[in-house]
Amino acid sequence: MKYMSITEVGKKIYMIDVEVAGLRNFIATYVLKGKSVAIVETGPASSVENLIRGLKELDVKPEDVSYIAVSHVHLDHGGGAGTLVKFLPKAKVIVHQRGAPHLANPGKLWQQSRMVLGRIAEIYGEPEPVPAGRIIAASDGMVFDVGNDVALKVVETLGHASHHLSYYEPPSNSIFTGDAAGIYLNEIDVIVPTTPSPFRLDIALESLEKLARLKPSVLYYTHFGKANNAVEKLHTYARQLNLWANIAKQALEIGEGLEWTSRKIVEIDEAVKKAREYIEGHKVLGETVLGESVRGVFDYVKNFG
Ligand SMILES: [Zn+2]
Repeated sequence: MKYMSITEVGKKIYMIDVEVAGLRNFIATYVLKGKSVAIVETGPASSVENLIRGLKELDVKPEDVSYIAVSHVHLDHGGGAGTLVKFLPKAKVIVHQRGAPHLANPGKLWQQSRMVLGRIAEIYGEPEPVPAGRIIAASDGMVFDVGNDVALKVVETLGHASHHLSYYEPPSNSIFTGDAAGIYLNEIDVIVPTTPSPFRLDIALESLEKLARLKPSVLYYTHFGKANNAVEKLHTYARQLNLWANIAKQALEIGEGLEWTSRKIVEIDEAVKKAREYIEGHKVLGETVLGESVRGVFDYVKNFG
């Protein structure tokens, strides 16, 4: 039998490691059991099968799931939505209003993802469309109640993407951060940026402040897992983004480019130093963090100063 990890991470909150391509501790889906059930993040299409097995192990009946809340439509977060709704007859998919068209018609998203991510897009799999009638185009402040004192409040947190949402769970004072708070490498307790182009640093920093103002006690990262000292973690990430941007600024001032920036980041950023071996040994992070994330910050500084 294949390894499948389910963890009770909070009161009525469970985490399923969807193990895309056998990668553990990389993509999490959260299951909130109230009177009905809400799922936060689907993971990619290729691991929906694992997610469904996880739901079975948690004794979740398909018709009990009322909401599937995704942070954004990138393949590793909402890519599985179209496949998943086929198994959950009553579930509606909550997504930022600007992301909704891409869930309904994922063709362009898939094409772009293949161009940008290449081999990694193939690992995630092609997203299936979500029927338009099952999509809730959400905006900041909306609340979705699943009963028994379990609810999700939409917090618009743009920056990583122009259509990114986080979800605040008031009873547990926790936030499902999607990609708004970076990637938390829980095994080594380090945060690294997820800032692919077109990343907006200014807006991402505002989003981090917005999350910090909620004074959460717990963060639930999609990549990956539960973290305490939530406010401190949000501030740490903001400082790291500023550090990266300053290095990119320096590069541009002396006529250097992406490669120099990346090298300097590895030299100066203590978190990256600590995580380097982990990142470089990872099938997906090896290509994305020190490639795409650095490029995103670099492009932002180049285009917006
Ligand atoms: Zn992601």
